Amino acid sequence: MDAGRKRELEAKVYAGERLDRDDGIALYECDDLAWLGRLAQDKRTALHGDRVLFNVNRHLNLTNVCAASCSYCSFQRKPGERDAYTMRVPEAVAKAREMEGEGLTELHIVNGLHPTLPWQYYPRVLRELRAALPGVSLKAFTATEIHWFERISGLSASEVLDELIDAGLESLTGGGAEIFDWEIRQHIVDHETHWEDWSRIHRVAHDKGLRTPATMLYGHIEAPAHRVDHVLRLRQLQDETGGFVVFIPLRYQHDASGDPRNRLQPRTTMATPAESLKVFAVSRLLLDNISHIKCFWVMHGVSLAQLTLNFGADDLDGSVVEYKITHDADRYGTPSTMHRADLLELIRDAGFRPAERTTRYEIVREYDPPVPLALRRMRPQRVWD
Ligand code: SF4
Repeated sequence: MDAGRKRELEAKVYAGERLDRDDGIALYECDDLAWLGRLAQDKRTALHGDRVLFNVNRHLNLTNVCAASCSYCSFQRKPGERDAYTMRVPEAVAKAREMEGEGLTELHIVNGLHPTLPWQYYPRVLRELRAALPGVSLKAFTATEIHWFERISGLSASEVLDELIDAGLESLTGGGAEIFDWEIRQHIVDHETHWEDWSRIHRVAHDKGLRTPATMLYGHIEAPAHRVDHVLRLRQLQDETGGFVVFIPLRYQHDASGDPRNRLQPRTTMATPAESLKVFAVSRLLLDNISHIKCFWVMHGVSLAQLTLNFGADDLDGSVVEYKITHDADRYGTPSTMHRADLLELIRDAGFRPAERTTRYEIVREYDPPVPLALRRMRPQRVWD
């Protein structure tokens, strides 16, 4: 990018002017990562200062049986496969209880699209979980699952959500978005929920007062223009509803075990760390109406997750114990567990001030800022388990 174009983009960012599609593509084409990072970081600092949010959550997958076969997913199993599972309601509650402790504030629940489970199972699980863990927020189901529930129940999204909210639902999850552009989407997605239904369902959820996350799966066969298109669709929807609380770029992962369910693997490589940092920075700059950008460290590794905090991210998810949807056989050096103390250390070590939040992004507790580097004693590096 030439100096004139850089100055033009800088002027727009610092004047708070909205960036357009061409600007977004130009930012992706820019090789000056340090410059891009500074722009995004200035924007992030103007919004959130040196604060980085985190929450203490656990992931629960009620079933890995799925009627779809998305080409990036090695989580799904077909009925009757040896390691297919579906939790009965008491089993799900027992599993959630095992995860309780450490001040858990959120359960994140996503599942396969089970071909025969009745619709009533889902509100029942939520009711039982809410009774068993009254202080824990239930963030559950992607828009894809809500669309599936419409199909198996004969109810509308509005009726499905009313029943789930009555059973304890506090937020949808942001998944099922992948990449909205059909040219790419048709190669990676096997379910029937595309932009029209995904956006319709989030719109209904926002209308009911739910605040939801939005995601983007990047680093597979998409080009930067598809990422820009994806983010601009979300920006437009956010102008309309104001209901998205956070944007989460999810890095596509190869399956290190070579599981043939991941059919994208032979066609692509994973995004490099530099490309990932660009995704965070450009997303921060384009999304002037979504407050938070989250790094899901499980998909990025802890080192890259720390760096994203300097490229526009201000939120780290979370203290996950098990994450399976795109991480079923991961060998990329990411830990499987992070506790509150680990997250505090990770955030402070990157130079930021941690604050714990709820599912709805209310602050639970502010923590001390990091000790200045000059005052720190040298100590062996922590290896996360
Ligand atoms: S991504 Fe979700 S819908 Fe697609 S195959 Fe995997 S579990 Fe099923």
